[in-house]
Amino acid sequence: MKTGTIVGAGLAGSLWAVYLAKAGYKVTVFERRPDIRKAEISAGKSINLALSERGWTALREVGLDRMVEDLAIPMYGRIMHDEKAKLTFQPYGEEGQAIFSVSRGGINARMMDAAEQSGDVTIHYNHQCVDVDFENTKVTLLNKETNETIEHQSDVVFACDGAFSAVRYNGFQKVDRFNFSQNYIADGYREILLPANEDGSYKLDKNALHIWPRGEFMLIALANEDGSFTCTLFMPFENHEYSFDKLNSRDDVDQFFREVFPDFHAMMPDVADQWETHPLSSLALMRCYPWTHENFALLGDAAHATVPFYGQGMNASMEDCYVMGQLMKKHNENWTEVFKEYQEVRKPNGDALQDLSVHNYKVMRDLVADPHFLLKKKFEHRIHDLYPEKYLSLYSMVSFSNIPYAEAMQKGKEQDDFIEKIMRENDIEARFENDTIDELIHSIFQAEAV
Ligand code: FAD
Repeated sequence: MKTGTIVGAGLAGSLWAVYLAKAGYKVTVFERRPDIRKAEISAGKSINLALSERGWTALREVGLDRMVEDLAIPMYGRIMHDEKAKLTFQPYGEEGQAIFSVSRGGINARMMDAAEQSGDVTIHYNHQCVDVDFENTKVTLLNKETNETIEHQSDVVFACDGAFSAVRYNGFQKVDRFNFSQNYIADGYREILLPANEDGSYKLDKNALHIWPRGEFMLIALANEDGSFTCTLFMPFENHEYSFDKLNSRDDVDQFFREVFPDFHAMMPDVADQWETHPLSSLALMRCYPWTHENFALLGDAAHATVPFYGQGMNASMEDCYVMGQLMKKHNENWTEVFKEYQEVRKPNGDALQDLSVHNYKVMRDLVADPHFLLKKKFEHRIHDLYPEKYLSLYSMVSFSNIPYAEAMQKGKEQDDFIEKIMRENDIEARFENDTIDELIHSIFQAEAV
C-alpha cells in the first residue's frame, strides 16, 4: 500500500491528510500537541482567522467546504474607528463578497475529523518530530507521554509543522545549498477578548473586520461565534511614542486604551485585566529554498511563514495543498516530478505573499485612514463596477480570486501606477461630485481598447 507521513496536524497538515487519504494513501500524522478536540486551546494565540477564496477553493476540492461553512462569519468590509469614535465602512469587494472569520480551533478540528473519516488516516498526538533521515524516508518522533523515541518510515513525507518546522531545522537546514532566512519585524501582538453583551449579542457589527488604525500601530477585531470578538493589538515592541515597552502597569494600559481607543475602552473598561494573562508574541517572516529534498516536502508556514496582515498565511497553506493535489494527479504520483514542479510554481508565490503581507500592514494601520487612499479605493470600485472583466483591485485578486500571488502583485503594481497617474491628471474628487466620473472612466477604457 502507498504510504505517506505528515508532520504537524495544524491547518495545512490536517487538510493535506484528507487529500492524501482520498488519493488512496495510508496516512500517518504526527502532532506535537495533544488532540485540540479534547484539550483547551491556549489563550492569546490567534483564536480566529480570516478565510478567503484560496482557502475555500482548497477545501471545496475535497468536499470540506460544507463541513466548515457553519463556522464562517462573513465580513463584507472594514469598519474603521477613528480617535473620535467616528466609523467609516469600506467594502472589500462587490456587493455580497466577503472574507470569513473562522475559529482556528474549530476549523482545525473539523479538518481532523474529515481526515479520520476520509480513509486510512491515523493521527498520533503528543508525538514531536526530532530528527529526519532523508536517505531512508524516515522521521524520528519523541512520544511526549512515555518519553520513548520511535522511527517511522514511509514512501513520502510532508512537513506541515509550521513556522519553526523541526523537519526544516533538523533536515533541510543541514543540506548543502539550502537557503534560509528568518526576519522578525519590529512589532509584536497581544490578543484581547471582547466579551459578548450579557444577552449574548455582539458589541460591534459582526459582519465587518474592525480596525482602529493609528499610524504606527493598530487594533483589529474579528467576530467569534459566541458573540465575542478576538481583538489584536499590533504595535512596535519599543522605541516609539506608543510601544509595548511603555505599557508596564495596569494604569498604563488603562490610560492607553482610554486615550487612543476611546470607543473600545467604553465597551471594555476592564481591558487592563486581560493584559498580563495574554502573552505578547512576536512576528517573523521565514524564507527558504528548495522546498523539497529527496522524498520530503515543506508545506504551509514551514515553507513560507509570513506576517498576518493580509490574512493569507492559512489561505496560502491551504493553496499549497490544492496545488500539490493537482500536481499529484498531473504527474501520476511520480513524486520526483510533483516536487520539482511544486517548488518551482509555489516559491515565487510564497515570496509574493510575504511581500504583500508586509505592505498590507502599512495599508491597515495607516492608509485606511488616509483620505487619498480612500478616494483611490472609491475610484477603483467604480472602475470595477463599470469594467468588471478588465479591472480587479489588488485586494480582490488576493482575497477573492485564485490568481497566483506573484501575478496579482505584479498586476497590482501596474494598476496602482496607472490609477495614481489618472488621479494626478484629473481632479477625481470633483469628478465624483459633479457626476462626471463614469464619463472619465469610459473615455480611459475606450482609449485603451483603441
Ligand atoms: P500551523 O497551523 O502552525 O500548524 C503546525 C502544526 O505542527 C501545529 O499543530 C504544531 O503543533 C505542529 N508541530 C510543530 N512542530 C512539530 C514537531 N516538531 N512535531 C510534530 N508536530 C509539530 N492566516 C490567514 O489565512 N488568515 C488570518 O486571518 C490569519 N491570521 C493570523 C493571525 C496571527 C496573529 C498569526 C500569528 C497568524 C495568522 N495567520 C492567518 C497565519 C496562519 O496562522 C498560518 O499561516 C497557518 O497556521 C499555517 O498553517 P500550518 O499548518 O503551516 O502551520
